[in-house]
Amino acid sequence: MHLARFPRIKLCHAPTPLEKMGNLSKLLGGPTLWIKRDDCTGIATGGNKVRKLEFLMGEAMAKGATHIVTQGAVQSNHVRQTAAVAAKLGLKCTAILEHRIQTNDADYLQGGNVLFDHLMGINIEYRPGGTDMQAAIDEVGARLTEAGETAYVIPGGGSNPVGALGYASVALELLNQANEMHLKIDRIVHATGSAGTQAGLVAGLVALNAAIPVLGIGVRLPKDRQEANVFKLAEATAKLMGGPAIPRDAVEANCDYVGDGYGIPTPGMAEAVMLLARNEGIFLDPVYSGKGMAGLIDLVRKKTFADSENIVFLHTGGQVGLFGYADYLNAAAA
Ligand SMILES: *Cc1c(COP(=O)(O)O)cnc(C)c1O
Repeated sequence: MHLARFPRIKLCHAPTPLEKMGNLSKLLGGPTLWIKRDDCTGIATGGNKVRKLEFLMGEAMAKGATHIVTQGAVQSNHVRQTAAVAAKLGLKCTAILEHRIQTNDADYLQGGNVLFDHLMGINIEYRPGGTDMQAAIDEVGARLTEAGETAYVIPGGGSNPVGALGYASVALELLNQANEMHLKIDRIVHATGSAGTQAGLVAGLVALNAAIPVLGIGVRLPKDRQEANVFKLAEATAKLMGGPAIPRDAVEANCDYVGDGYGIPTPGMAEAVMLLARNEGIFLDPVYSGKGMAGLIDLVRKKTFADSENIVFLHTGGQVGLFGYADYLNAAAA
């Protein structure tokens, strides 16, 4: 796996720490739980999108881009991280934000990631829920090109084969850490949305012959569609890397913890956020890692995993989003 063959701009504070969650493991009983701190990738409060942006922005700069265009939900962590990297590289940035959840909550509409977006001064356009967002950014990209800019359009979540290289690189980083610590990792668990994180991880782990299964906890789609998206992108990423074919059974998602829908809080999410805060001093986010951890906690309680396992939870970031859900979380914490 020779990633230096691809344009890349080093942006992350890496390697991110791999830490044992001793208190949480003891509290839940069962497997030993570890956490890979990709909430600490460094730029604009960190998160998993900076991993993908190393390769995406590498390509953008190689192509002479002047203006980055991307999209996400109103409280998009991806948009916040993309805007920050664009600022750092001296590029203009336009984000299309989708009202994917119906709410009048001022914290959700103006706080958290949106506040950061405003402070960075990017151009924001809003679209109603259900809009074809890829078409929307393609349109904006074409408009900018017509106006003489060199637009570089990044899909939602940075999830295409180039972005997924960021997580193939994390597979290598994590395996190096495990070997160094002499830690046999039995499983990786993380929240999966636009699929790039899991696809890149799986493509990297397969290429490295790591024999570590990955379980994605879905936050939006039903299991069949989520697994199909991840598998398709993992195959495309493996092809880009010139790596081995991806076995279909290397892609597994559990989508039982979505609740009423994307971005809609669940009691399990709130419990997971508080358990990590109170026992480990670690903050999860309400849309992704909170639901991912809710899934992991429930599966541990149901004795899905052997007590002897070392399970690594990949923390994908997003804590800024907590401020978009202050009322719900304050009520849960009371
Ligand atoms: C985007 C995101 C995810 C999901 O990653 P995908 O690559 O889109 O599947 C998980 N956690 C957080 C905090 C995110 O912002």
